[in-house]
Amino acid sequence: VSVPDRLRKTELRDIFIGVKTTEKYHRQRMDLLMDTWVSLAKDQTFVFTDSDDQQLRSRLGDHLINTNCSSSHMRQALCCKMAVEYDMFLQQDKRWFCHVDDDNYLNVHELVKMLNQYKHTDDVYLGRPSINHPMETYDRHENMQKVNFWFATGGAGFCISKGLALKMIPYASGGKFMSSCERIRLPDDCTLGFIIERLLRVKLVQIQQFHSHLEWLKFIKKEELPHQISLSYGLTPYRGSARNIIGLDEVFSESDDPTRFKSLHCLLYPYVDLCSGHVKR
Ligand code: UDP
Ligand code: MN
Repeated sequence: VSVPDRLRKTELRDIFIGVKTTEKYHRQRMDLLMDTWVSLAKDQTFVFTDSDDQQLRSRLGDHLINTNCSSSHMRQALCCKMAVEYDMFLQQDKRWFCHVDDDNYLNVHELVKMLNQYKHTDDVYLGRPSINHPMETYDRHENMQKVNFWFATGGAGFCISKGLALKMIPYASGGKFMSSCERIRLPDDCTLGFIIERLLRVKLVQIQQFHSHLEWLKFIKKEELPHQISLSYGLTPYRGSARNIIGLDEVFSESDDPTRFKSLHCLLYPYVDLCSGHVKR
């Protein structure tokens, strides 16, 4: 008996993973991702940046995308990269569009498990807000009407079903995402929330297993770390604390692994080369 393709379980190969980065973070952040979780999801991961880089190119091949967007942290540059990511997802025959930043660890196994609880043909927007209230702004196409909507923080990662991504076409494809960003004058992740919650009236499903460095990562219990979908780090001083990292004190020392991502990777996958000689098997 053969099952119609749309009814079979979601696997890693059904997911498109976009990673946003910028030239100055290629060595500082991307190499670490390549050495850890990206190595387990090479076929579905696409890296969106703003310059050519031979080192990354040799590891990623045509999965490294030079967006030609400007390399700044300005709204326009960030929206430009998200627009390229979204357009590329639509060209691929994948069920889910997932995005992470270059300071996110993505637990691909938990990601697949979570996505299996939803249908890619439904309208599904999964992620985690970083503020405890809806975003409030003004819609420049509607006479500066005040609008409220929830949005998933890009820095925690989020996923959008193919069904929903197709409905977003009028507001997000082929350059229209940039106009939507200008319409509310907010960054890319807020604009996705605006399009999905406000224009399409689809609600964000809040997933607590996504984490950005806007929350205190030390509060996640060590035994719960393997069940999180995304994690992050903040190494620059923030609110009086030196750094914001997950509480995992084993495997590598803090000087060998300041972000704790290598240690986490070895906790999850003790048999990969990176971990040999460092972890009891
Ligand atoms: N980023 C970018 N261009 C920049 C600065 C940052 O594309 O000029 C990307 C960066 O690679 C990361 C995301 O935007 O994926 C968020 O940047 P960062 O973590 O530095 O700042 P945050 O917003 O998290 O404080
Ligand atoms: Mn960040």
